[in-house]
Amino acid sequence: MKVVVTRKIPGNGIKMLQEGGFEVVVSPQNRPLERQELLNFIQGANGVLTQLQDKVNDEFINSAGPQLKIVANFAVGFDNFDLPSLSSHNIVATNTPDVLTEAVAEHTFALILSIVRRVVEAYKIALTQSFTFGPEVLLGMELKGKTLGVLGLGRIGGRVAEIGKALGMNVIYSDPKANVEFEQKIGASFKATPEEVLKEADVVSIHVPLLDSTKHLINTEKLKIMKPTAYLVNTSRGLVVDEAALVEALKNKTIAGAALDVFENEPYLSPGLELLDNVVLTPHIASATIEARSAMGELAAKNIIAVLSNQPPLTPVKAK
Ligand code: NAD
Repeated sequence: MKVVVTRKIPGNGIKMLQEGGFEVVVSPQNRPLERQELLNFIQGANGVLTQLQDKVNDEFINSAGPQLKIVANFAVGFDNFDLPSLSSHNIVATNTPDVLTEAVAEHTFALILSIVRRVVEAYKIALTQSFTFGPEVLLGMELKGKTLGVLGLGRIGGRVAEIGKALGMNVIYSDPKANVEFEQKIGASFKATPEEVLKEADVVSIHVPLLDSTKHLINTEKLKIMKPTAYLVNTSRGLVVDEAALVEALKNKTIAGAALDVFENEPYLSPGLELLDNVVLTPHIASATIEARSAMGELAAKNIIAVLSNQPPLTPVKAK
């Protein structure tokens, strides 16, 4: 049976597939495949290990052919999957939860600390070699005693909340479901709406999946609810934030700053974002640790091996 991997991955995932006795074809390109390249590349595959840029829809499924049994995403998010289409063709869809939670939560704090302590601005000034120590130079905000607002208290949001607590922050969160056990464990408070979190938090960190209901969850009106001294951090998906509205809010100092790992139209930035000092930007690398990326490849491989051996997948995803 043939397994197609749309981009080279670190770790043992490819080796595991080869040792499973599959014919494994890995894209020779070190970039996301163009649409037509992708459609040609997956023809005849029984399993495909996809990247989040690969749109998996009817066109993809028809190009692969009727022998396709599983599409395993190299990501926990699966907004690139048309799940109703996959299930109507009896194709299993899987993702890589948990194994990247620590990496993404730690990167979220790399961003939070960078924006509140103005690390990128400071780095640029240090490079000029013409700075002096000054009592009022590059003043930032301390996290201890401040309120961290988590939007989406799932695996990653929960870990971010724990790290915030360890740094002495008060934690509030909103989620469609309250998690009383977690609240008691770390001392966090549930807010029934995102608006209540936005109103109170000094740092708002977004960890919701991209769904129709979360697209532009943060827009002009929501940004106005935030404190002018507050920071917005997004490591979820770019479309969750109306980026043009955010640029305006940052220019007008409606909020103090933003740190983003994901963008509405990657790899492009909304006009004006690149000119602002009160932002920290990283190029969609929140899960980019050797540990997480290796484990993601291995989990995707295990899912493919299981399904192509007529066993249940380890981490299936289904349409809600
Ligand atoms: P998860 O499913 O464990 O958590 C998502 C949480 O969001 C759930 O608790 C859910 O109930 C909640 N939620 C859904 N709609 C909401 C709403 N409208 N308001 C508030 N909460 C809502 O997922 P996870 O493993 O924590 O991952 C979260 C997201 O992070 C993924 O879907 C993915 O898009 C993103 N992600 C990004 C990167 C990156 O590289 N930047 C890496 C990993 C994950």
